[in-house]
Amino acid sequence: MLRSVLLYLSEQKRLQESILRLKLARKLSRRFVAGESLDEAIQVTRDLNARGMDVTLDHLGESVEHEDQAYQATDDYIAILERIDSEKVRTGISIKLTQIGLAIDHDLCRRNLRRIAEAARDHSRFVRIDIEGSDYVQSTLDLFHGLAEEFKNLGAAVQSYLRRTEADVRELAARGASVRVCKGAYKEPPELAFQKKREVDASYVRLLEILMGSESPLAVATHDSRMIEAAKRLMGEHSNRQAPVEFQMLYGVRRDLQARLVEEGYRMRIYVPYGTEWYPYFMRRMAERPANLLFVLRAMKGK
Ligand SMILES: Cc1cc2nc3c(=O)[nH]c(=O)nc-3n(C[C@H](O)[C@H](O)[C@H](O)COP(=O)(O)OP(=O)(O)OC[C@H]3O[C@@H](n4cnc5c(N)ncnc54)[C@H](O)[C@@H]3O)c2cc1C
Repeated sequence: MLRSVLLYLSEQKRLQESILRLKLARKLSRRFVAGESLDEAIQVTRDLNARGMDVTLDHLGESVEHEDQAYQATDDYIAILERIDSEKVRTGISIKLTQIGLAIDHDLCRRNLRRIAEAARDHSRFVRIDIEGSDYVQSTLDLFHGLAEEFKNLGAAVQSYLRRTEADVRELAARGASVRVCKGAYKEPPELAFQKKREVDASYVRLLEILMGSESPLAVATHDSRMIEAAKRLMGEHSNRQAPVEFQMLYGVRRDLQARLVEEGYRMRIYVPYGTEWYPYFMRRMAERPANLLFVLRAMKGK
């Protein structure tokens, strides 16, 4: 119930405008967001790299409605790629296709994605395409498949809560595509998505089994110890597998577990979001773990 309310609030643009103006809210967002500038994100990346973790940078923004915003976001990502190359930090980028025009026009988005993929290839960097609400899943996968042959530095993401995902994953695995598996962070109806944690988790493990048995590079994106144990078991069973497997976690979430997996010798990549458009991202993190609200309320009380 609270999850649904928080996810509903995450989509309210007016509320977003008011919250973004609050100084205290900006301060609180730092729990999950590296900062508002690229300089701050690079500093966080350096620190994580020094602790044995790779990074994927997300320049926050989504659901843009005007072409010029989509071009701007594309130019920004190209500038980010140039900067991370010159700074020699170990990071790729994660992008949302609605940030570069998917909600406006499919072809516009394809052109922008191609420009980003080319720039990333020139700088030997990897581009992960985040997966968004179910309205955009088919078009996101279409755009991915359309460019993945040409650009080996592009990867897809899938959500285990969607009923369709097993079929999507079979296709991605058959093509050897790089896949990030996550549970899914949006509000989806029961016709499209499993609603019970037990079902979402069972689906997650099923997807790992399919991908682990393929030659798809695999990113296991979760903070759930049971999913992590399942992934470790499958890695043991598929020890002859050539394609790489890594764990991925969100900046600021389960830092203890992040460090432990690195100590155990697993590859770990941290998803580091930064920028001024942090409101929907931050609200989705609250929805995932309503206990996070307590830290917000406590901080507000201390003010
Ligand atoms: C690297 C990465 C990339 C992602 N990319 C996408 C994407 O492209 N599209 C998409 O829809 N979703 C994405 N997500 C979000 C994902 O779908 C889930 O919403 C989120 O990861 C929570 O699920 P979980 O697997 O951690 O398991 P859960 O069952 O939600 O949580 C398991 C445990 O993890 C801890 N935990 C989980 N979330 C939080 C939190 N916010 N704060 C504190 N503790 C927490 C708690 O201890 C919890 O008990 C991504 C997640 C990661 C880690």
